[in-house]
Amino acid sequence: MTHVPHLSADPADVIASYAQCNLLGGTRIPTAAGMEVLNPATGKGIGMAAASSADETAAAVAAAKAAGAGWAALPARERGKRIAAAGRALAAEAETVARVLCLETGKALRTECRGELSVAADLLEFYGGLASELKGETVPFHPRSLTVTTREPLGVVAAILPWNVPLVLMMLKIAPALVAGNTVVVKAAEEAPFATYAAADILMRHLPAGVLNVINGDGPTCGAALTAHEDVAKITFTGSEEVGETVYKAGAERIIPVSLELGGKSPMIICADADLDKTVTGAIAGMRFTRQGQSCTAASRIYVHESLFDAFLARLTAQLDALTIGDPMDEGTDVGTIISARQAEVISAYVEKAEATEGARVIRCARLPDSPDLSPDLFLQPTLLLDLPEDHPCVQEEIFGPVAVIQKWSDYDAVIACANATRYGLAATVWTGALSTALDATARLNAGYVQVNQNLTIQPNVSYGGFGRSGLGKEASLEAMLEHFTRKKTIVLNFD
Ligand code: NAD
Repeated sequence: MTHVPHLSADPADVIASYAQCNLLGGTRIPTAAGMEVLNPATGKGIGMAAASSADETAAAVAAAKAAGAGWAALPARERGKRIAAAGRALAAEAETVARVLCLETGKALRTECRGELSVAADLLEFYGGLASELKGETVPFHPRSLTVTTREPLGVVAAILPWNVPLVLMMLKIAPALVAGNTVVVKAAEEAPFATYAAADILMRHLPAGVLNVINGDGPTCGAALTAHEDVAKITFTGSEEVGETVYKAGAERIIPVSLELGGKSPMIICADADLDKTVTGAIAGMRFTRQGQSCTAASRIYVHESLFDAFLARLTAQLDALTIGDPMDEGTDVGTIISARQAEVISAYVEKAEATEGARVIRCARLPDSPDLSPDLFLQPTLLLDLPEDHPCVQEEIFGPVAVIQKWSDYDAVIACANATRYGLAATVWTGALSTALDATARLNAGYVQVNQNLTIQPNVSYGGFGRSGLGKEASLEAMLEHFTRKKTIVLNFD
């Protein structure tokens, strides 16, 4: 096992320590090229990350492959204990990693980054405790033979991350993969790689060299080299639909399993008998306004019964107006920035389309910060779009920003049809006081994660994954570990 010292308490020092390198086989390996990472809140560079070539990517796969047999041979509980211990170690250094995450993503430290670290550490402890569940079955095939199934690791897993919640998404992938006996190469998100490196460094203290490896680079070079590598046995990806398709094709070319989490346009249906206060709180939490709406599960289509519409809108806008948008590192800040100028442009283009639509209304909430130290373009206001036709791009497509569509409804069957009318199927929520409505709606909604009277984000032990264009496979549960990170072998013993 390689000894890695505790992280410096200063996030700038932590970032500097990962300048232009990958974490391979337990050590920092410099790369020939680098790419600058910006602090979205200031527009200034915070460090140079690795820009891995195809060969440098292949070296990471080789390190993971070399560590595979030894790791898989450990008793499952021993692997689980190490992953749980890694979770506790991450929790102990969470504040430093949260500050690194804040600097590179622009997400508010108090409302977002600290919570992300807490869920990330919890996921490691959760999966560590599931190691004993890597069980097979006995099969009643023949009375004079013993027929059993066993669960085996797949080999080297490639885990490709986006920038929005990199640490939670990383643990959703690597914790079940490692507990199941696989070794992993994580491809960090190029906009926000350093918190991924810092968290991995902490985990590596509890793992044999090469079991966990982290690389960074752009998608077409590093990501594509990873998905095409002949020694990668499984790909798990979260990101855009477009890249998800490319990754799926790369897996198909070598006939290896691929899990995809690709986003959504999740409906929130508020019925006439819903508790108004809860729905307003649920809309703000569900839309992830404090994360600038950068969430695949964001409740970005809110269908409100006509009898509650005006009261709901008044309370929602009042609460959104009270949010403080500002320096992400400031303890008083509720909402930080969008990740990049490119994303800000995409989001603004959607809002402009809504503004150009006859009869539509656009409401912008809260005040933008006014500080010469902050880059103005990446702070966006929580924005509500009203009175849009259902086939409008803002209603149908994922905007991935702080923009929610609010629609008025009166006919229950029609609103269920609208809720199901996008190409996605990630999540949905229903808000009602009637069990009969809840049961009917949850049965009819076309989404992989349906909640009633709450709008929680990913929870350990609750299977999470979408239908349709939202992706393939489940995460966060025992089922996710067994189905997506092991293969099942059938063994028949006959000594008759
Ligand atoms: P992306 O899909 O472009 O990138 C995600 C990851 O895939 C990154 O690590 C990237 O380097 C890698 N990648 C890119 N091209 C690749 C290739 N050819 N082969 C292998 N890997 C490749 O996502 P993004 O640029 O981070 O965000 C763009 C859009 O994706 C957003 O606007 C949003 O709609 C969506 N998104 C969804 C989620 C989600 O949680 N579902 C998260 C982030 C972004």
